[in-house]
Amino acid sequence: MTILLIMGILTSIFLTLYFTFYLPQRILDRKRRERKAERKAEQEKLLEKGFPREWKEYLFNNWAIYRHLPLATREQLHKKAIEFFTQKDFLGKRGFRITDEVKLLISAQASLLVMNQRTCYPRLHKILVYPESMATNVAGNSAMSAYLEGTISLAWDAAAYGARLRSDSYNVVIHECAHQLDQTDLKNDGIPALPNHLKTAGWAATLKKEFQTFSDTPNDRQIIQEYGKTDMAEYFACATEAFFERPEHLHRVYPTLYNLLKDFYELDPAILYNQKKE
Ligand SMILES: [Zn+2]
Repeated sequence: MTILLIMGILTSIFLTLYFTFYLPQRILDRKRRERKAERKAEQEKLLEKGFPREWKEYLFNNWAIYRHLPLATREQLHKKAIEFFTQKDFLGKRGFRITDEVKLLISAQASLLVMNQRTCYPRLHKILVYPESMATNVAGNSAMSAYLEGTISLAWDAAAYGARLRSDSYNVVIHECAHQLDQTDLKNDGIPALPNHLKTAGWAATLKKEFQTFSDTPNDRQIIQEYGKTDMAEYFACATEAFFERPEHLHRVYPTLYNLLKDFYELDPAILYNQKKE
């Protein structure tokens, strides 16, 4: 009788654990694997088919930087943009509807920063898109917790506006993506994870000096947003916006900073934007 009772209790514990934890986890894992395979298939299909002509037209009409890129660079960017487009989840918040155009404009701009990198924001999984400007910039620990959760928040009106103009050093997608790169070493300090050759070349120390110079100078030249004076993390993000939006100007006024960013992103937009387009 006692043995039967013990066996009954053990069986019910086993069944409870199986149905409460093990089985749901297995189902979740299977769904994740299926979703991953679907994404991969979608990415390969798009790569094989080639970047759709209407996508190129949309970017040409809505993203000023794109118009300045030579054709070969655009082709390189398309591949990364397809990866971002298919591998990240886009979620509309507060009633905002996600369309292919929304995904495309965000994906393409985000891809510019990592065009020459092997990976494509591996910790980033979800792009939360709000209809209108809001306080998407969160400082310090909150920014780091969003990074750890694998999310980024963007306001569509600001993202679309930032893309349209190139002369204002304002681009919210580039800004938030620079924060993502900064945080890959789990620090929100304006110094991203660096390859060894940049570490030994004193990249971080030079950037800190540049930040000091920028902080001590009245910002009447409007190349880097004044907001970049907040701290090193904002400086890196705002300097990155200027680097991609007004490279010729940044190169002229802050050549040391320009070269640091050029080495980090492995891109020279000042030269690139002035190359023949074909
Ligand atoms: Zn910021």
